[in-house]
Parts: sequence; C-alpha cells; structure tokens
Amino acid sequence: MTSYSDFHRRSIEDRDGFWREQAALIEWETPFTQVCDYSNPPFARWYAGGKTNLCHNAVDRHLKDRPDQNALIFVSTEVDKEIIYSFRQLHAEVQRMAASLQALGVKKGDRVLIYMPMIPEAAFAMLACTRIGAIHSVVFGGFASVSLASRIDDSQPVVIVSADAGSRGGKVVPYKGLLDEAIRLAQHKPARVLMVDRGLAAFDKVDGRDADYAALRQQHLDTVVPCTWVDATHPSYTLYTSGTTGKPKGVQRDTGGYAVALAASMKHIYCGNPGETYFSTSDIGWVVGHSYIIYGPLVAGMATIMYEGLPIRPDAGIWWQLVEKYKVTVMFSAPTAVRVLKKQDPAYLSKYDLSSLRALFLAGEPLDEPTAKWIAESLGRPIIDNYWQTETGWPILSICKGVDDSATKFGSPGKAVYGYDVKLIDEATGTEITEPGQKGVVTVEGPLPPGCLQTVWGDDDRFVKTYWTSVPGRMVYSTFDWGIRDADGYYFILGRTDDVINVAGHRLGTREIEESISSHPNIAEVAVVGVADQLKGQVAIAFAVLKDTSKAATTADALKHEGEIMKLVDEQLGAVARPARVRFVSALPKTRSGKMLRRVIQAVCEGRDAGDLSTMEDPSALQQIKDLMAPK
Ligand code: AMP
Repeated sequence: MTSYSDFHRRSIEDRDGFWREQAALIEWETPFTQVCDYSNPPFARWYAGGKTNLCHNAVDRHLKDRPDQNALIFVSTEVDKEIIYSFRQLHAEVQRMAASLQALGVKKGDRVLIYMPMIPEAAFAMLACTRIGAIHSVVFGGFASVSLASRIDDSQPVVIVSADAGSRGGKVVPYKGLLDEAIRLAQHKPARVLMVDRGLAAFDKVDGRDADYAALRQQHLDTVVPCTWVDATHPSYTLYTSGTTGKPKGVQRDTGGYAVALAASMKHIYCGNPGETYFSTSDIGWVVGHSYIIYGPLVAGMATIMYEGLPIRPDAGIWWQLVEKYKVTVMFSAPTAVRVLKKQDPAYLSKYDLSSLRALFLAGEPLDEPTAKWIAESLGRPIIDNYWQTETGWPILSICKGVDDSATKFGSPGKAVYGYDVKLIDEATGTEITEPGQKGVVTVEGPLPPGCLQTVWGDDDRFVKTYWTSVPGRMVYSTFDWGIRDADGYYFILGRTDDVINVAGHRLGTREIEESISSHPNIAEVAVVGVADQLKGQVAIAFAVLKDTSKAATTADALKHEGEIMKLVDEQLGAVARPARVRFVSALPKTRSGKMLRRVIQAVCEGRDAGDLSTMEDPSALQQIKDLMAPK
C-alpha cells in the first residue's frame, strides 16, 4: 500500500485523475466529458456532461449479480416487526412508490417532501424520487409544525409523503396533525399529500388532497417505472440544516458526484463489501441517514438495516443482537447513543457474538475519551471517529481504513480525508496556520470534492456569503469549527465558531430556538446557549427577560413560565429543540453596541473564564446568570 499521505496528496494534486478513477465505482448511462468544471468558483460541477441515476446505482444495478440478496432489513422494536427486502423486492417496491408519485403529478425536478418515521416506505419514497429525477427533501420526524412549515415554504413541494404516526419508546407519536398544521401555516400549499397509514393513529383526511398509499400501491403493483437518466449535476435532494440565522438552509446535493463520493467512501473509509450488512443507527431525517442508511450501503451492494426504536428497548442488547443476527460488518452510530449504553449493564455487550463486526464508526459530535475508551474496550473492535457535516455529505476527517493503517488517536477524528484540502486558518488574518498545535478555523480549499453541497437551495448568494471566506488570493469553505492539527496530521475539533449547538448529535441553531421562545406573549428578550452536558454533549439553556417581571416573582411563577416555554418550543420546533432549562433574568449581557454576548454566557454556565469583559454594558446582567448557575 502506498502511504496514505501519498494517496491524499494525489487526490489534491491530480484531482481529475483521482476522481476519474473513483467514478468507475458507479454506473453511468452517458460518460462525463469533464471531471470537474470549476470555471465559476466556488460552484463546482462534478462529472459535467455525464448522465446517471442514484436509484439505478443503489438498486437496479444489483439485480444482475445479487437479486435475492438482502437489501433493506427493516427492524422495529416499536411495532415489533422485522421485514427483509431483497434487491428484487426493493426494486418492485420503489417502482410502486415511483408510480404512485407520478400518479399524483410528480415530474423530474419537482420537490417531494418526506416527513416520515423510520419505516420502509420512507426509503422507498427517497429512492422513488431519485428514480424519476424528483428532488426529495426529508424533514426529521421529530420536528414540529413551525419547523416543517419553513421547510415546506423553502422547498415548495408538489407532494408531501407522510404517515399517520411514528412510535418512540412504545408511545405513539402522531404526525398527521402536525403536518396539517404546518401546511396551514405555510404559504406554499402542496397539491397532494401521500399518506402511509400504519394503523397507529386515527387522522383526518383532506378530501381531494390526501391520497392513501396502500390504495395507490395496489393500483401500481406491476407498473414499470424506468430510471430517468439525469445530468450528473442534477440535484438529488435537499436537506435542511441550522445555521446562524433563524432560517434553515437547504443543502443541495447533486447526483453523480454524490454517488461516486459514497461509493468511494464505502471502499476507502468504511471498508464495506457487497453482500455484507451495514448498520447505521441514525435516522433518515439526518445526513447520516441519507448517506449511510440509504444510499451508501445500497450503492455498494450491501444490505442496510433500518431500525425504528431505542437503543435500550426491549433491553440494552438490541443493537448487538442485530449485529449477531445479521452478521453486521460495519456499524455507524453517535457518541450520545454510546453514552446512553454506557449507563446500562455492560453484560449486554458480551452476550452476543460480535465477531462479524470490523469497526464501529462514530460521528456527529465530539467523541470524548472516556466514551471512546469504554466502547473500544467493551467491543474489542476498532472505534473510528468521523468528522463531517450535513453540507459535506461524507467525512472530512477520518482514518481511511481501506488505504491507511495508521492508528486512531483518542480525541481526534483523524486526518484530512482524500479529496479534502483541509487548512487551518487564522481568523484574524486569514492566513494559514502551519505550526502544529495551534488553533484555527477548519476550512477546505475549493473546489469541494464530489458529494458536497452544490449550493443552498434557491439561494446561490447565500451559499457564497455563508460558507466562503475570503483569504489572501482566494476563497475557502468554512466549516465553522475550530480545530488544531498535531505534528502527525491528526486534527482535534474544538467546537463551533458560530451560534450553532450540538445536542445529542443534533445540530440546532440557537437563533431558531430564540425566535420560537420570543413568540411567547410575555417574553421581552431571550438568549439561548449550548452548555456542556455529560450525556448529550451539549444542552440548550435559555435566559429570558419577561415583559412583566412581576410574573416571575415567585418560584412557582418561574416554573409555570418555564413549562409554557418548553411546551411552546415542543409545538413549534419539536422536542429536539426544547431547552433543558429556562431561567429568568432582568437583563441580558450585551456589548455597548447591543450585541448579545452568548459566548460569555456560555463560559459562565460552564464555569470557565469569560475572557475580556471590557466591552460589556451592564456587568450585573452577567452576575445574575452566575448566581443562577452557581451550584446550590
Ligand atoms: P451536522 O451538520 O448536523 O452533521 O453537524 C455538523 C457539526 O457537528 C460539525 O460542524 C461539528 O461541529 C460537529 N461534529 C460532527 N462530527 C464531529 C466529530 N466527529 N467531532 C467533533 N464535532 C463533530
């Protein structure tokens, strides 16, 4: 094996040669004429001139060699079901869904919003969209009406695919009421809603708009829907993510570059082979679900497990039971889930035969050393931390096991992945930091490699302004994370440079939560910060100023308001965004020019030094927060 640094260097210095080779990992209908068109930076057009189809590469392509092999393994410990679809069966179901969407008027380029629990029909819907060139936009089922409405307005779907309900911890979570409310709030009205009725929760049907999937599927049992060959640059999907402003950004992904990037990552990073089983514990509402529950494993000809349920129900051995049963070779999860398991009886980890498992990959949030050590020792398998973002679609930092036999280092997600020319930039001067051990903003030189976001949906200007920072002579892509690199090229991520927080691996914009809380009639002002938490990595804490301060005069009043605010956030954004605590103050710490000092609040909450406070207007505002957060 050539050294990994040579492999990485070639991916940057001979970019086109490198990615031309990787492109052979997928099937093309029309060969591309150019590997990377970067004539209009920072917009990269990968595999220009080529035509392919993501669904073809994930499903149809495997009908030749592995039609009866497991493709989608659905396991629900919520409704006690296990259904296995072979590639042939998956192919049939995807066509039934595609025909149903077409019957409702969906055409190439149309958007289809998918608001669903973790059920096979959600996977069929995603694959059906890419099959016919429609652009899916999956919205995490844990989001509530206001979050959903803003995504409906931005993506303007022709059809929304949804279900009566999800289930969490044995409790039915109805979806349809939230969806109806979101459509009522949204300015854009989808023409049709396609409902999968699981029989979990009764719901109202809107005549003329809502269609029943079971009935439509029945009409299209044998309808053949060929793949629509699309340009490599045709958008496959948009996925919304939080940023600094309240309005979520629609990350837009292409088709050809994404398929190649995933296929290459399955080979070089995850080492997953056709015929094996991949188990990612994420949700299709997040980017990991897109790349490594649905598209990545299927493109690689692997079976993928789609799991609806908690990691500790019926007991904390459920994941390992699935690993044994389906001989999982590659597993992907998040540090928070591992921390949840760490609190359970360790005997569950030794109860099952895990010999098939080659590695457990963890991503989405910082992996702390105690968690990494515990799981590594308990599993006796390599634990590989990956660092990436919704925007990139696949890892920026990792140990690429397929091409690199270096050891992992605790606390580090590894080295720059091939294709990513990662640089640490000094925020003040814009110059590159080359000295090991020095802190800088983690950036990537353009063009971003295949598979990364093409743009922000409908807003090229926002793409350029948000992500691309001018440094001397060029623009670089900013991850908005601080990092350091050691002398061996391993990176360590030190947290966000912006107001984005990470709760249990879920990325949340503090501004979105603040906007929601501010809609309470008695709230004058609020600041939300992310504070370190042993289990979830971070939790959101809100500091609010009431319009009528007498209303929080007693503890009972404050508690009542806290409860109201939590309920409001639950109803508007969803329980994922609910602050862990709401505390009431008479003023918030700001600079003399009126800028909220969130970072200072955060430091105080975490018991850290708050740094230079000379620009602060009213020190007593910070003192109130210190007093409230002081251990009682
Ligand atoms: P998301 O777009 O939801 O995947 O969130 C991306 C953000 O999560 C990154 O910008 C980081 O702040 C954080 N993140 C993801 N993976 C890691 C990791 N392995 N270590 C530290 N932070 C991470």
